Amino acid sequence: MTDLITAARWIVTGIQDRHTPIIVEDGAVLSRDGEIVAVGPLDEMRRLSPGVAERNYPGHVMLPGFVNAHHHVGMTPLQLGSPDHALELWFASRIPARKIDLYLDTLYSAFEMIASGVTTVAHIHGWMSGGYDAIHGAATKVLDAYRTIGMRASYSYAVREQNRLVYEADEDFCARLPQPLAGHVATYLKSQILSFEDYMRLFDELTADNHGQRLTRIQLAPANLHWVTDDSLVEMNARSIRHGVPMHMHLLETAYQKEYARRRTGKTAVRHLHDLGVLSPRMTLGHGVWLNQEDIEIAADTGTCICHNCSSNFRLRSGVAPLNRFEKHGLNVGMGLDEAGINDDRDMLQELRLVLRAHRVPGMDDADVPSCPQVLRMATEGGANTTAFGREIGRLDPGRRMDAVLINWKTATYPFQDPDIPMLDAVMQRAKQSAVDAVIIDGSVVYENGRFANVDRDAVLAEIAAHYDEPRSEEEEARRRMGLEVMPHVKAFYDGYLAEATHTPFYLQSSTR
Ligand SMILES: [Zn+2]
Repeated sequence: MTDLITAARWIVTGIQDRHTPIIVEDGAVLSRDGEIVAVGPLDEMRRLSPGVAERNYPGHVMLPGFVNAHHHVGMTPLQLGSPDHALELWFASRIPARKIDLYLDTLYSAFEMIASGVTTVAHIHGWMSGGYDAIHGAATKVLDAYRTIGMRASYSYAVREQNRLVYEADEDFCARLPQPLAGHVATYLKSQILSFEDYMRLFDELTADNHGQRLTRIQLAPANLHWVTDDSLVEMNARSIRHGVPMHMHLLETAYQKEYARRRTGKTAVRHLHDLGVLSPRMTLGHGVWLNQEDIEIAADTGTCICHNCSSNFRLRSGVAPLNRFEKHGLNVGMGLDEAGINDDRDMLQELRLVLRAHRVPGMDDADVPSCPQVLRMATEGGANTTAFGREIGRLDPGRRMDAVLINWKTATYPFQDPDIPMLDAVMQRAKQSAVDAVIIDGSVVYENGRFANVDRDAVLAEIAAHYDEPRSEEEEARRRMGLEVMPHVKAFYDGYLAEATHTPFYLQSSTR
């Protein structure tokens, strides 16, 4: 057994309520093999375990490691040639994206996440061609990359069974395309087909592969309502109960998805999922921009979680999620960077501030807008609850894993910060990545003073640069042409799609209630 004391000027162990962080001043965490044993004054920790190794951060704020609760890829769509369209067009615009080894790709975004204090990621993988063995191999590379760099990952391979390009059957969409485009698109979409049995076999095999791993776990992900059948949802829910793992499902990201649900079910997507019996604290709805008041009440009654992907919602013109209503109803809300944040990277510190600012509705009551402790809770415990690690992470409490970020107070606040601003409010609003001096995951320092302990960042970035220095392959060239050609047809599919229903989001209404 290896005991370790990690001391800091301030330790924020967690959030008591939306106005109250729990802070231990001049405190220390005693951990044993990566699990927190006790938290308290440094002298007390020394008495509990005399003579153990110590790491001291006398000018630092220690926070629970951040959880990026919704993540998909390394290289960003923008980097790979896809501009910020509305979501439905953006799907199609990603067809031309060049391929890269997924081990390198995963490390690329892991560098960015860890450097901004993220210790756990919910990696929702999807959109792959090549059949079962290729997908199992790809998933293994992603999981290997996280274990190698020392990052915690709750991995899922998203189940997509139908409506792969637009919100109708692949065959129906392809039937309206001119030849030879129709044939190319049909072949492309068919190459992504995996039977539901194989999706579940993948879950079972990856679960077995990762048995006993401390950093990687497997969970379930019905990709979105339009992508899955009701039978599969019910079956995945049963499996979720059997295995004790959560599900993460994109839902109501756009007004078009709200309308899709109405056409398919005659009710809202959330009401439909509730009627299927698949809503519970094991279910997280990714985005949830277009929930209405009844949907929010159903989520509250069933304990269903939400993952708020603020940057993504702005970038892909999805709308502004009703976060202030979620909070009033006591929903568990996590935070996700999705493909990338507003700087086209994975900067969780920046995302904290975006969430703080995006929901500041007009008015004077502090209770109506996000608070710093509330947003920190979203980025830590709230996100943790949506992953397969649940209550084992997300706070610096005894019995949880030692995942923490150390922020240099002086770097964050130099040359001055008035103490009338609470410490946590100041650090959350002012700390940039340059102030992240160390990141600890499972008791190990994986990042310190700009260097990763287990992976040579410069070498990996050079490998990525060399890969993209090569010209597009023939297959990539053909796929690029197909992607560009199909775009106007995708846009045509959505012409008039919203005409039948009114869609007024909360953010266009004056009151938050
Ligand atoms: Zn997503």
